[in-house]
Amino acid sequence: MAKVVIVGAGPTGATLALVLARRGIPVTLVEAARDFQRQFRGEGLMPSGLDALSQMGLDSLLKTVPHRPLSAWEFWLNDRRLFRADEPMGAARPCTLVSQPPLLAALVQLAQAKPGFDWIAGTAVKDLLWRDGRVVGVQLSDDRTVEAALVIGADGRASAIRQRADLTLDTQPKSIDVLWFKLPAPAGYETDNRFCTVVKQGRVFSLFHGAEAGKLHLAWAISPSEPTEQKDWATTFANLVPPEFVAHFRSATDSISPPMRLSVVVGRCPRWHRPGLLLLGDAAHPMSPVRAQGINLALRDVIVAANHLVPVLAGVSAPDPAALDQALARIQAEREPEIIKAQQLQAHEASRGELLRRFGLLRRGLSTLSPVAGPLVKRVWVSQQISLRQGITAVRLEV
Ligand SMILES: Cc1cc2nc3c(=O)[nH]c(=O)nc-3n(C[C@H](O)[C@H](O)[C@H](O)COP(=O)(O)OP(=O)(O)OC[C@H]3O[C@@H](n4cnc5c(N)ncnc54)[C@H](O)[C@@H]3O)c2cc1C
Repeated sequence: MAKVVIVGAGPTGATLALVLARRGIPVTLVEAARDFQRQFRGEGLMPSGLDALSQMGLDSLLKTVPHRPLSAWEFWLNDRRLFRADEPMGAARPCTLVSQPPLLAALVQLAQAKPGFDWIAGTAVKDLLWRDGRVVGVQLSDDRTVEAALVIGADGRASAIRQRADLTLDTQPKSIDVLWFKLPAPAGYETDNRFCTVVKQGRVFSLFHGAEAGKLHLAWAISPSEPTEQKDWATTFANLVPPEFVAHFRSATDSISPPMRLSVVVGRCPRWHRPGLLLLGDAAHPMSPVRAQGINLALRDVIVAANHLVPVLAGVSAPDPAALDQALARIQAEREPEIIKAQQLQAHEASRGELLRRFGLLRRGLSTLSPVAGPLVKRVWVSQQISLRQGITAVRLEV
C-alpha cells in the first residue's frame, strides 16, 4: 500500500500518523528529538482541539495524560480586576491544559501497535528526495533514505522541509518574544485555575496553573530586541501581580525557574504543497501563542488532511499522482480560511493588550471604571471568543 513519511512528531505529526496507521496506511514517522521532553511545549487545548481529539477517538487516551481544566479567564489592569469570565463560556468543555510530552508519547505508542507503522526517533530529516519534479521520499541525517508516495512536513515553525521544498513563508512583523517561568503554585490555585492576564506599568503577562501538579506558569511578553537580563524576578513580579499573589511571589525568590526565551513566529505559506509533499501545522502556518490556537488548529488540519488523503491512499500500492496532488490542494483550500481568520483574531486580541500596555491613561481610566465598564467589556470579549474557542469552519472526520 502507498506509504507516507511524516516529518516531526509534534501534535500535527503524531496525531496524523496515528489516524492514517489506524486506517491501514503504512506510515513512517521521523522525529529529530530522542524523546518528547523538549524545552517547551504549549499546553492549552480549546474546546475545538478537545473536540478534534474526541472525533479521532482519543477521549480515553486524554484521560490517561496529566491535564487540568481552566476555571476562568481574568483580566487585571493595574491592581484591579476588569472582569472574570468563567469556563466553559457556552462550549461543551472548558479550555484544558494538557501535558504534551506524555500525550505525544501515548499517541506514538498507539500507532506502534499498528502494522506498517515505523517510528524513527533521534534522527532528523535533512533533505528531500526528488524524481521528475516530484518529492518521493526523505534523506535522514544518518544518510538513510525513506521513499514514500507522500511526504508530510509537520516539522514546526522553523520547518526544514518547507525550506527544502522551496515553499515560502510570509511572516507577520515580529512583535514579541516570551519569557516562560515556572514556580510553585499558591495554595488554592489548583482548584480555581484562572488564566490571569495582567497589564501594569508597561508590562503584559499571564499566569495560570499548568497541567503538572503544583506548577504555576508565568508567560512574560517582551520585545524581540529586549535582552534577557538577570533580574530579581520575584520582586519584579511581586510588584505587578494581582494583590492576592504578592506575598506568594515575594517568598518565591529561590523557587522561580530561570526563564526560557521563546521566539514567536507568525505567518502563513501562500502554498502548502508540491507534487508528493504537503506542509501541515506550524510548518504551513506558525501560530502566535495568543489564546492558545496552534495545537488546536493543527489537530483540525489533521482531520481535514485525513478526509482528503485516506480515499486516495488506502487500498492502493501506488496512488494516482494527479489525484494525490489534487487532494493536497484541496486540503490547503479547506484549511486556509480558518487559519487566516484565526491569525487575524489573534492579532486583534494582541493589539488590544498592546494599546492598554502603551497608554497608561487609558489603562488607568478603564481600571478606575472597572466596576461599571467591566461587565460590558466582558460581554463583548466573551462573544468575540467563540471563534477562537470553538473553531471557525466546520471540521468533521469523515473517514
Ligand atoms: C510561547 C508559545 C506558547 C504556545 N502555547 C500554546 C498553547 O498553549 N496552545 C496551543 O494550541 N498552541 C500553543 N502554541 C503554539 C503551538 O506550540 C504550535 O502551534 C504547535 O506546537 C504546532 O504543532 P506542530 O506539530 O505543527 O509543530 P511542533 O509542535 O513544533 O512539532 C514539530 C516537531 O518536529 C520535529 N522536527 C523539527 N525538525 C525536524 C526534522 N528536520 N526532522 C525530524 N523532526 C523534526 C520537532 O522536534 C518537533 O517535535 C504556543 C506557541 C508558543 C511560541
